[in-house]
Amino acid sequence: MRRRGQPDIAIVGGGVVGLAAALALARSGLDVALVEAAQPPAWQAQRPDLRVYALAPDNAALLAALGVWSGIAGARAHAYRRMRVWDAGGGDDLVFDADTFGRRELGWIVEHGLLVDRLWQAVIAAGVRLDCPARITGLEQDADGVRLQLDDGSRLEATLALAADGAESTLRDLAGIAVDRQDYKQRGLVAYVTTAQAHEDTAWQRFLPGGPLAFLPCSDVDADAPRGHRSSIVWTVPDDEARHLLALGDTEFNRALTRAFDSRLGQVTLQSNRVAFPLRRQLARDYVRGRVVAVGDAAHVVHPLAGQGVNLGLRDIAALRDSVVAARASRLDWSAQDRLARWARTRKSDNAVAAHAFDGINRMFGSRAAVPTLLRGPLLGLAGRVPPLAHLLWRRASGL
Ligand SMILES: Cc1cc2nc3c(=O)[nH]c(=O)nc-3n(C[C@H](O)[C@H](O)[C@H](O)COP(=O)(O)OP(=O)(O)OC[C@H]3O[C@@H](n4cnc5c(N)ncnc54)[C@H](O)[C@@H]3O)c2cc1C
Repeated sequence: MRRRGQPDIAIVGGGVVGLAAALALARSGLDVALVEAAQPPAWQAQRPDLRVYALAPDNAALLAALGVWSGIAGARAHAYRRMRVWDAGGGDDLVFDADTFGRRELGWIVEHGLLVDRLWQAVIAAGVRLDCPARITGLEQDADGVRLQLDDGSRLEATLALAADGAESTLRDLAGIAVDRQDYKQRGLVAYVTTAQAHEDTAWQRFLPGGPLAFLPCSDVDADAPRGHRSSIVWTVPDDEARHLLALGDTEFNRALTRAFDSRLGQVTLQSNRVAFPLRRQLARDYVRGRVVAVGDAAHVVHPLAGQGVNLGLRDIAALRDSVVAARASRLDWSAQDRLARWARTRKSDNAVAAHAFDGINRMFGSRAAVPTLLRGPLLGLAGRVPPLAHLLWRRASGL
């Protein structure tokens, strides 16, 4: 049983997923504490964050229900209306168009720093107790709850603890949850660029043997620049090629990038510094161990080729909130083991299907073997020409 003054739930990690969890669960009537290692910097419009997400419609709806979406969209979120995917080896383009699905947009390109900033402010306003800066260093648990040891010397007791502390999650490890991990030996190189031709509110992705190259349309920052020419790139390349691309001068990099993108939008010009993230697939074997629950990247890390990482994490939270709300409406125990197990089964299977699908796509499009090379282009074209198949792919990505 919870003691007086003790929070219902202690969330470790205040990234997008942990903050959304704190807000959603506080709004569902739980007493929430959040432990975060570092205070997030305030978002500044003139200093765009290099880490951007393609946010799916179901997650924009989640953020709207939490009361933060209008503040995010009003600050800077670029709606993309089309997606165009093609293979460097030839064949037709796979095209998704919002009109075909009866929508105004397929999703939004949003900066990580903006999401965190607006969620952080909302979490404070919702009365969540913050322990920041603080890191979790120890865990004890029994059937009734958890006791967390923090590096500032304090202890935090709660009925349940949520591990939202990312891919290297300390809380997940302390709870003894093992992960299966595969290093892709690839890096995702990110940067902002402008292109000679306008991006047409389209997310572009070209599959190359080393990995996919994505151009995500972004809102303009410079009022004097031509409108609609700014994109964020995610260029997946083998580790050694990433090192080479990071070391190139800007002019050589622009040339290499324009060539890799097949000059689809004309000359590409770098507008920021370049950063490369190591890529892996990592799946937790369990999502619940006693009174500890893993969510977001602590539970699943997927290849960024479909832009689904943070989207899957937010879906963990939407499902957890629904489970808590349903239990409380029926005056049942929101933290009962069988309830958590049901949540874990659904989320684990959804995330595993996504992780293995992205894995297969990455392998097939990265293969130089004859059969996959011959199949790729026609397969993309076929998916585009068969409306039910395109709808199925879109429904999975959009969460609708
Ligand atoms: C190149 C690249 C491109 C990507 N593009 C996309 C995209 O387009 N769309 C998409 O959906 N996803 C994308 N992703 C994936 C996305 O970045 C992650 O899925 C997402 O950031 C996970 O969020 P999270 O909150 O679970 O973890 P994190 O963002 O890692 O947050 C974890 C938080 O926990 C805190 N923390 C860590 N350890 C402790 C501790 N011991 N105690 C207290 N706090 C702690 C950290 O400070 C941090 O704030 C991309 C990833 C890469 C690498």
